[in-house]
Amino acid sequence: MLLESELPDLQAILKKIKKNTNNGCWEWTYGVHSSGYPLVHFRGRQMALHRAMFFVFKGAIPFGQIVRHACDNKICGNPHHLELGTPGDNINDSCLRGDRKHFKIPRDIVEQLQNDEITPEEVAFKYGANLKYLKLVRRGVKRWK
Ligand SMILES: [Zn+2]
Repeated sequence: MLLESELPDLQAILKKIKKNTNNGCWEWTYGVHSSGYPLVHFRGRQMALHRAMFFVFKGAIPFGQIVRHACDNKICGNPHHLELGTPGDNINDSCLRGDRKHFKIPRDIVEQLQNDEITPEEVAFKYGANLKYLKLVRRGVKRWK
């Protein structure tokens, strides 16, 4: 539920979005984070555009779940194109598309880590990866190889 105090943030976000009449995507028109996802200022912090939009239009994101783009367009903020999923869903999507299968931990997961969409603890648990290393990756100190 959007609070009145959050309205200016939302308006600022919507000003930077352009609706693409071809695919229905609400596309971000400004710079994007190195992960490919736009970052916006919302609720006193930085968060990924799609997470902010999901929160505003569809509600809270349950713990352990991520917001996925049904349209596969990272810069899209159209709430109708966003759906909840598990980190595993994104991995399966990547595998089905045939890309990134040689990564031990998919790049998507690293991106989610850096976007705070998933915690280092969750990744460590799922992949048996080193938690300390994951925390460095999350902060961008270490690049994922
Ligand atoms: Zn879209």
